[in-house]
Amino acid sequence: MKDIKDIPCLFGSLVFNDSVMQAKLPKETYKALKKTIAQGSHLDADIANVVANAMKEWAVEHGATHFTHWFQPLIGVTAEKHDSFISPVGNGRIIMEFSGKELIKGEPDASSFPSGGLRATFEARGYTAWDPTSYAFIKDGSLCIPTAFCSYGGEALDKKTPLLRSMQAIDAQALRILRLFGKTDVARVITTVGAEQEYFLIDKEVYLKRPDLIYTGRTLFGARPPKGQELEDHYFGAIKPRVSAFMKELDEELWKLGIPVKTKHNETAPAQHELAAIYSTTNIATDHNQLTMEHLKIIANKHKLACLLHEKPFTGVNGSGKHNNWSIATDTGVNLLEPGETPFDNAQFLLFLAAVIKAVDVYQDLLRISVASAGNDRRLGADEAPPAVVSIFLGDELSAILDAIENDMPYEGKEKVQMEIGATVLPHFPKDGTDRNRTSPFAFTGNRFEFRMVGSAFSLADPNTVLNTVIAEILCEFADKLENFADAEDFKRELAKLIKSTIKEHKRIIFNGNNYSDEWTKEAEKRGLLNLKTTIDALPKLMDKKNIELFAKHHVFTETELHSRYEILLENYCKTMRIEALTMVDMVKNSIIPSSISYQNEVAELLRRKTEIMYDWDNSVPNFSTSVEANLLIALTAATVSVYKKTEELENALLKIKSDTDIEGDELTMAKFYRNTVFTIMTELRKPIDELEAVVAKKYWDFPTYAEIIYSVN
Ligand code: ADP
Ligand code: MG
Repeated sequence: MKDIKDIPCLFGSLVFNDSVMQAKLPKETYKALKKTIAQGSHLDADIANVVANAMKEWAVEHGATHFTHWFQPLIGVTAEKHDSFISPVGNGRIIMEFSGKELIKGEPDASSFPSGGLRATFEARGYTAWDPTSYAFIKDGSLCIPTAFCSYGGEALDKKTPLLRSMQAIDAQALRILRLFGKTDVARVITTVGAEQEYFLIDKEVYLKRPDLIYTGRTLFGARPPKGQELEDHYFGAIKPRVSAFMKELDEELWKLGIPVKTKHNETAPAQHELAAIYSTTNIATDHNQLTMEHLKIIANKHKLACLLHEKPFTGVNGSGKHNNWSIATDTGVNLLEPGETPFDNAQFLLFLAAVIKAVDVYQDLLRISVASAGNDRRLGADEAPPAVVSIFLGDELSAILDAIENDMPYEGKEKVQMEIGATVLPHFPKDGTDRNRTSPFAFTGNRFEFRMVGSAFSLADPNTVLNTVIAEILCEFADKLENFADAEDFKRELAKLIKSTIKEHKRIIFNGNNYSDEWTKEAEKRGLLNLKTTIDALPKLMDKKNIELFAKHHVFTETELHSRYEILLENYCKTMRIEALTMVDMVKNSIIPSSISYQNEVAELLRRKTEIMYDWDNSVPNFSTSVEANLLIALTAATVSVYKKTEELENALLKIKSDTDIEGDELTMAKFYRNTVFTIMTELRKPIDELEAVVAKKYWDFPTYAEIIYSVN
């Protein structure tokens, strides 16, 4: 980019967005497409052909030669299969062609994507279907068409389909509530999401020297650096020129894709940074975040850097999350989590708030599951991340208001007012940082909730599918109740009763204190809140009857679909753990033990020579207890023996998984074995490795240390 003035032109320049559509499509086609986008109505084949052709013309003008359906399978970032636009016309000539059929439907070979048993191998076909609500874009010379991915039986094989379904569910239920408040002008309710993405940036050369970072995304060992984040000088420090150049290019590339990235800054840990985009509709925000994660990696590479998206790349150093700012808004532009201007609107706000409170309390398990992974297990519950216990922060003011409502007491805010629902104007809650509780997993921040448990490597799809569905369910329960009261006075009375009783029944989920403290864990237990510490504790709850019923009722997942996700999550957990264990074994055997032996050899050789010299000199022998070499040898030997033994134990545990049919045959048993046995041995093995790292001479140690990694970018 040459000039700041170019940014508005740059923004969205690689996106087939509304203004491009308007310019490139015949009026009638444009109108039909807009209708499809707005209402999800069917797009007729002729129109699809016209749209496809215009898309192709535009894409070719921008240098694209290929197109791909772009989708989010159940694991991994995104999937693509590129086809070129070329089509032979005889005489060895070709034209560039793209049909409506190709736009609307694709048939990637589904057998290479996980389906959790949904797709028998004899029926390996799946298809991708265009999601016209998310604009097509150009990436690396290909026109990318955002799509959903389903099996031929119609089961969702991706993350987008359930997300779109959950958006429909909450739309339908929220509209019922709004109708009760007389909001007839609202045609659609959407959920909005703004994500803050944390990541680490390290030097590529350093990265390439750590097989654990390459294969597992995190370091499997490493002694604490002499300087960590204790001085807190990174967060407020200036962005280093190399990082700044990276961020600048990243901004520009993301802007071209129409991704409204706005904020960038250093984070708490050295080498840690954050990027935030302005919020948008949930499925768009999700697609954008996928693209953002992909570009973080690509652009880092161009700058000879490596971007780490793992939730906990370094033990003892802050991990990375993805704060999911969530709200619910009308197509008329009203944020339903913003206190209104009139008492009646405030009653509506309180009802939506009550729905969120109840939903989070009743479905704590689902929220926890939506952020469960082997990677995030390393982070949740560690010092800087919210604990595994789900709770809501409302802030003092809002909590005091709810208190007053619950107890029929006056609210002593700026002025003393009787908290009668429907008769009181609520204060607007401060949105600045001062009132923030950064330890809460789910915090109200003035006009939205910030779900802070999401891991940095996650797709936004899962947590938002859950959020939308659980809140849709409670809105549905509320609507079922309130729709029985047509008379205005009856309605107000019932509304007040409902808000009050919901607060009473679910206030245990509200906690405004320090979520990182041990007292809170104890208090949470007293309140009966769930503490699902690890993925393995959380995942089985996905298949609880209440959860199966919930997703089925709102047409988000069939029981079969839900079960397939459960299987894939478990399978993925086991695979991650296995790769980590194998990588550790490999690093120990090929490098750590040989390094230690080489160094021992050097020390022993010196000791031998010294002994020889002393003996030749005056027939004396060295005093081993004061000999540096002898002491070093003892320390090295002890640590190396521990490493050797633990590695053997680890290998045996891995062999057991393959040979023990009880473990092999059941995914949950296997996952538990990885968690309880394999991971425990890995933790024990790490200790003597870290001891060795501290003792073995630098020139023998093959791996960059924590200090060398986190201070590698200058
Ligand atoms: P902080 O770090 O203080 O939490 P940031 O400014 O970094 O705040 O991020 C706030 C995020 O919340 C941004 O992505 C912003 O777009 C998003 N946000 C603001 N309003 C809404 C809303 N109504 N719905 C969803 N997200 C929102
Ligand atoms: Mg935040």
